Amino acid sequence: MTDPLADGYYAATAHPAPQRPALAGDISCDVLIIGGGFTGVSAALACAEKGFDVVLLEAKTIGFGASGRNGGQLIPGLRWSMQEIEAAFGPDRAQAIFDLAYGARERVWGRIAQHNIACDLKAGHLEAAIKPSHFSALRAEADWLAQHYGHKAETVPPEAMDCHIRSAAYHGGIYDPKGGHFHPLNYVRGLACAAEAAGPQLFEQSRVLRLARASGVTAQLARGTVKARLALLATDSWIGDLDRDLGRHTIPIMNYNIATAPLPNADALLPSDAAIADSRFVLNYFRLSADHRLIFGGGEKYVERPPRDIAAFVRRHMAGVFPELADVPIDYVWGGAVAVSRNRLPQLGRKGPLFYAHGFSGHGALVTTLAGELVAEAMAGTAERFDVMAGLPSAAFPGGRWLRRPLATLGLLWYALRDRL
Ligand SMILES: Cc1cc2nc3c(=O)[nH]c(=O)nc-3n(C[C@H](O)[C@H](O)[C@H](O)COP(=O)(O)OP(=O)(O)OC[C@H]3O[C@@H](n4cnc5c(N)ncnc54)[C@H](O)[C@@H]3O)c2cc1C
Repeated sequence: MTDPLADGYYAATAHPAPQRPALAGDISCDVLIIGGGFTGVSAALACAEKGFDVVLLEAKTIGFGASGRNGGQLIPGLRWSMQEIEAAFGPDRAQAIFDLAYGARERVWGRIAQHNIACDLKAGHLEAAIKPSHFSALRAEADWLAQHYGHKAETVPPEAMDCHIRSAAYHGGIYDPKGGHFHPLNYVRGLACAAEAAGPQLFEQSRVLRLARASGVTAQLARGTVKARLALLATDSWIGDLDRDLGRHTIPIMNYNIATAPLPNADALLPSDAAIADSRFVLNYFRLSADHRLIFGGGEKYVERPPRDIAAFVRRHMAGVFPELADVPIDYVWGGAVAVSRNRLPQLGRKGPLFYAHGFSGHGALVTTLAGELVAEAMAGTAERFDVMAGLPSAAFPGGRWLRRPLATLGLLWYALRDRL
């Protein structure tokens, strides 16, 4: 990989991947998928299962984007609570959104079992409250989920947090046994092998430079073209490179992770081995790896340039949660861009033959697999479930090409400041 931010713990510990060719020449297919992350690879597999002839083009290597670099946290649902969703869309639409957003978990677990993907999958996710008022809000949401949707998440009062995390930083939380964590690069690589076995041709080092829509979609690459009846843009943070209009609906926010050296006391820090994310707007999230490291993500950067010392930047947040780890050796450092939509809801839709799915806003590890499958369903002519997600509201960030990012940054800084106050 050429991006130093991609060379972290996952790249160093992933199962070897087959080398795939770069596209050279002119070919045609039923369905073209652009982007080899969770969304694109899942769509390629699901489209092949529906009998389509599929080509996937990835600019670098499978899992090079956010899918191969994330915190590995499998967090059920979307960024909005079900109470917010119900207030905004009414009970019927909320039920349909719940079925998909919470059902997404079964698709990831299902794919891992079906294709025997070795990716250190573990069950259990805890959302930890940074203030008592956040705990009350989390408890209210857990009650709502149980009463209205039959979804059982366990309220963990402050005095019982020790079962999950040994830290004085939190005031209770919600433990969801349906959440979990995994090695994301191994998942996407395993899914890609499953897709290939089902028929799709996967090309790497094959960046699409331009797209034309006329009787289907034609993708122009440096050394070839692909002509397809239907296509999916699954490029998430890079969507604006190929469709400037869609690019106005997300901004990329840089997020960084570290992995400590293996910890002799790992089980004592996180006794239930759950993944943990806290209730900050700019959240801290962490979990144990299969080899007993703490994988920790925290802090965000609104400019693309990384902090001069990423380890120190993230370590500060880790030491806030676990002061005893303030001086522990850090073996790996990495980061990537999270595509954030203005309302933090994913953006699925279509423009004629061109489908898109992006803007998962830091909640993509579960929903992307489903998103790819919904696109395949819609391409095959059954769009009911796709339409539920495509019907979520979407708004462009204001400010035009040059002001969009600074304005969005100001808004995000305001929320981050509220956490501190
Ligand atoms: C540091 C970090 C931590 C995160 N932590 C979590 C977490 O713990 N839990 C969670 O749920 N979510 C998390 N996320 C978000 C999650 O990883 C994403 O929502 C998800 O991976 C998006 O998947 P994707 O397939 O849509 O996009 P990506 O994985 O980004 O894939 C897009 C692909 O498109 C390719 N591409 C781009 N342009 C072109 C082009 N022109 N031609 C061909 N290919 C192209 C890219 O190379 C890339 O491989 C995190 C993200 C980051 C960056």
